Amino acid sequence: MEPCACCEVRPAGWAISARPQRRYRGWRPVGPTERVRVCGWCARWLAQLAADARSGEGRLFGQPGANGRHLVFDDQCAVCCESPAERAERVAWEREEQAAGELFLCVPCARWLLGLATSGRTLQGSRGRHLDGGYGAWPHPRLRGMRTWRRVRDRGVAEVIAAAAAAMGLLEAASPEEADAVLAEAGAGAADLCRELGPAAGRVIVLAGPGAQVETARALEAGALGWATVPATPQQLTAALARLARGEGPGGWDPATCLPLLEPGRVGRPWLWVEVPGAGEAWGTAWLVRRFSRGYDAVGAVDGGVGVVPLVPPGAVGRVAERLRQAVPGVQVEVRGAEEPPWRRFEAAG
Ligand SMILES: [Zn+2]
Ligand SMILES: [Zn+2]
Repeated sequence: MEPCACCEVRPAGWAISARPQRRYRGWRPVGPTERVRVCGWCARWLAQLAADARSGEGRLFGQPGANGRHLVFDDQCAVCCESPAERAERVAWEREEQAAGELFLCVPCARWLLGLATSGRTLQGSRGRHLDGGYGAWPHPRLRGMRTWRRVRDRGVAEVIAAAAAAMGLLEAASPEEADAVLAEAGAGAADLCRELGPAAGRVIVLAGPGAQVETARALEAGALGWATVPATPQQLTAALARLARGEGPGGWDPATCLPLLEPGRVGRPWLWVEVPGAGEAWGTAWLVRRFSRGYDAVGAVDGGVGVVPLVPPGAVGRVAERLRQAVPGVQVEVRGAEEPPWRRFEAAG
């Protein structure tokens, strides 16, 4: 029997399957089912993580949470309790092809759970993250004395901020006007705050859930520096604060994805281009790419898609592409900018 994809130790007698759904007069299956083979122990561990995330238990950084919302309808996400607009996934626990349980999940929560199903050993404490190598660690710059002010409702994000603040020696500012960095959650008045701050809005990092496109765009119009996703990881938050500490200000951004305009060709290293699968999917794609990228990766809009410049040795870019293919299923992820061998160029030139 093949080994479990999650712990890579025990034999995989179970599978976690994910069936993409689209709303069209009710939820209907679209696209192929993805199956990750896991052992019984990991299958139970993953089910428990989903239950803990909904109830707000557990201490997994970057985990989604219900934040006081309750499950009332059966097409709410069983983890974060949001109601997905157009796309969702049915995630089932299967033993010998028999479903032993199923959750209806929003795409971000489904991708979070599937991501854990293929990299559980990190969290189970048995080794460093396979896909990231040393890069998955949490390097934090010296930001001691940086004054931050926050307006955040999400419990998970509040915990991430508290951990980052403790690790980096951040100070708490009494008001947004006095802060070097302002962390404001969309849905908690981020856009209004940016307008009130005027030119000082350039210090605002908007924390945006998957449904926060409109407010994020309004905050960027009002001069916010940029945005990070909710849930956030310590790496993502740290990287956003480090950009502010380096004196980076807001620049041009793309209204469809709300991402900064990226010129990856200038970086001189391989980068990834992620397709936007259709009109109206730009924000959703950008959000998933950001959510499942490392904080130090540059993510931006390029060629009608989403560009990612991963901060990894060039040889590891393929593994980042693999991770993004899992995070944003069904879309094309191309490696670009890798130096072509000279003979191929001669051939192309005839
Ligand atoms: Zn396992
Ligand atoms: Zn969810």
